[in-house]
Amino acid sequence: MSSGPGRSSRALRRSASRPLSYELELARATGSPQGAGWSADISKVSQTEAAAVWEDAPEAAPDLEVACRKCRKVDSTLRASAFTYVLSAVFLTLRRPASSGIFCRSCRRKEGAKWSLLTGVLGWWGFPWGPILSVQSIVRNLRGGAQDGGLNAELLKAAGQTLADRGESPEAIRAFEASSKLRDDPAVTQLLSQLRGY
Ligand SMILES: [Zn+2]
Repeated sequence: MSSGPGRSSRALRRSASRPLSYELELARATGSPQGAGWSADISKVSQTEAAAVWEDAPEAAPDLEVACRKCRKVDSTLRASAFTYVLSAVFLTLRRPASSGIFCRSCRRKEGAKWSLLTGVLGWWGFPWGPILSVQSIVRNLRGGAQDGGLNAELLKAAGQTLADRGESPEAIRAFEASSKLRDDPAVTQLLSQLRGY
């Protein structure tokens, strides 16, 4: 894809609107804090996901918003997360990528519960890794999936800007505050003080 002169100011101003690159960054970023075995799964899930998004709507991608991929809501609870499930049969256990992307708190809980339930049914029945990987996946899914702080700081900054544009200042402030907790960013601090009216 070439970025011609057409993708100019609007694309720049809406630097928020890059779910595709979030997917890819999620793939790269979640490798570090989560351990080696995990990172392989995540990059797989995110690449698949990104490729699917790209094939579905190559033209629409630059206009997609930072929003919950399930309910399209934009608020301060948005986080980029990746979920997994586990399948086992006798001596074979597989940990598979489930879903990944940007979710609000409520959709994240539903995703976590759904994939944990599937793991709870299908994950245990392999020796010895079934129970071990199942517990790991269930705990992680119920905590909101694998997440990367730096990536979510950027996401929340973008969500805050969208909310501020819409005039939803209290929620924009909450998004910027959540971003600041994850990463120190002078630009976010400045946006926060503007919104608070100093
Ligand atoms: Zn949602």
